[in-house]
Amino acid sequence: MKVIQAKDFSLQREETDVYETERAVVKEILARVQAQGDAAVRAYTARFDGVELDDFRIPEALFEQAYAEVGDEFLEALRAAIQNIRRYHEAQKRPSWMLPDEQGSVLGQIIRPLKRVGVYVPGGRAAYPSSVLMNVIPAQVAGVPEIVLVTPPDREGKLNPGVLVAIKELGLAEAYRIGGAQAVGALAYGTETIGAVDKIVGPGNIYVALAKQAVFGQVAIDMIAGPSEILVIADDSADPDYVAADMLSQAEHDPMAAAICVTPSGDLACRVAQSLVEQLEKLPRREIAEESLRNYGSIVVTENLDEAIAVSNRIAPEHLELMIEDATSVLGRIENAGAIFVGRYSSEPVGDYFAGPNHVLPTSGTARFSSPLNVDDFVKKSSVIQYGKQALLENGEKIITLAEAEGLQAHANAIRIRLDKEGGRNQS
Ligand code: NAD
Repeated sequence: MKVIQAKDFSLQREETDVYETERAVVKEILARVQAQGDAAVRAYTARFDGVELDDFRIPEALFEQAYAEVGDEFLEALRAAIQNIRRYHEAQKRPSWMLPDEQGSVLGQIIRPLKRVGVYVPGGRAAYPSSVLMNVIPAQVAGVPEIVLVTPPDREGKLNPGVLVAIKELGLAEAYRIGGAQAVGALAYGTETIGAVDKIVGPGNIYVALAKQAVFGQVAIDMIAGPSEILVIADDSADPDYVAADMLSQAEHDPMAAAICVTPSGDLACRVAQSLVEQLEKLPRREIAEESLRNYGSIVVTENLDEAIAVSNRIAPEHLELMIEDATSVLGRIENAGAIFVGRYSSEPVGDYFAGPNHVLPTSGTARFSSPLNVDDFVKKSSVIQYGKQALLENGEKIITLAEAEGLQAHANAIRIRLDKEGGRNQS
């Protein structure tokens, strides 16, 4: 774990591979799915997931079995999380609006849900029920009428029971056990059994990410998420064990994850470093966390709190924790962060699973210009322009001036012809 001065700190990740090989594989998979539909999806599922499926739909029996497997405690926690996440996203909903004026014009915006959305839920090593909730609920709150979920099966055609229960609890009517680039292709182009969607959201491995990139344009996609990050701004009032525990909660994700503590206190920096070592010892995913801390972990010592905030604003972290005295008072000075966790009780997993805000957040500094997944990601907006006669007569000449300045005579004529007829102007 590096303890460094603020001026020397930047979150430089190594240039990642350009993924040429994977890109070629994905291109071929997508082309075949587009040309051959279900047959191609079936063949790739056999090749990559090791299972021959006649029907991609998840059989009812698997759902029933899943409920028996997960237990009451999980179900109760999941239902409480669903309620919180739904309530939070309900608050984001915005109605269509119309702006009438005295000249009889009405200007406005009609906001409609997307018609059909595909949600990719990763299988394999990472099977996360929380991914189902965080990607599906905002779409449901937006009013998307058709939500179709895909997730890859294991070699016996089975799925993670937590994921299955989440699908049922959300009342999803359409869910398929397919994964990888072939699932993305099926969603983008449609097959005999799976209708094409308008947008694909959800995380996945490199094949999924490259496939989403490749079909973008044919359909919309959400972001392509990079490795996860946490940055904790802490002062002497922070409990070093809490700071270290929260840093490790990111570090255990993956060796590319970044966990950073920024503090004006040299004393706290030392105590966090010590606590990290102690807590690491007991972690089942110790090797991953250790590698992550070695690669991208840092404790940054700053001159003062202002400099700590400046460092954080420069990094634009996915997750930012404020473990400082009177944390609420600095909230207004945080310019770039995906999610801000305020105070000692707002540990990151509170947001990852339960509180309500979405855990799909901008990574790799993109919080400078983008936002957490939200209800707006599942709607489209149409402008409405209903101009009145009086408004056109009063403003027509100005519109003609602007059109002619651009050399677009037909534009100018479309207005002039109305002024001539409606306003009684001489035709010349
Ligand atoms: P996955 O569902 O993303 O990918 C599995 C699929 O990959 C398989 O079905 C197969 O079709 C395809 N595949 C595997 N090897 C292939 C090959 N050689 N050629 C072509 N296709 C191949 O599941 P995973 O692999 O376990 O990866 C999960 C990923 O999702 C991880 O990278 C994890 O970090 C990420 N994840 C991110 C978040 C987040 O919120 N950012 C959440 C959950 C998971």
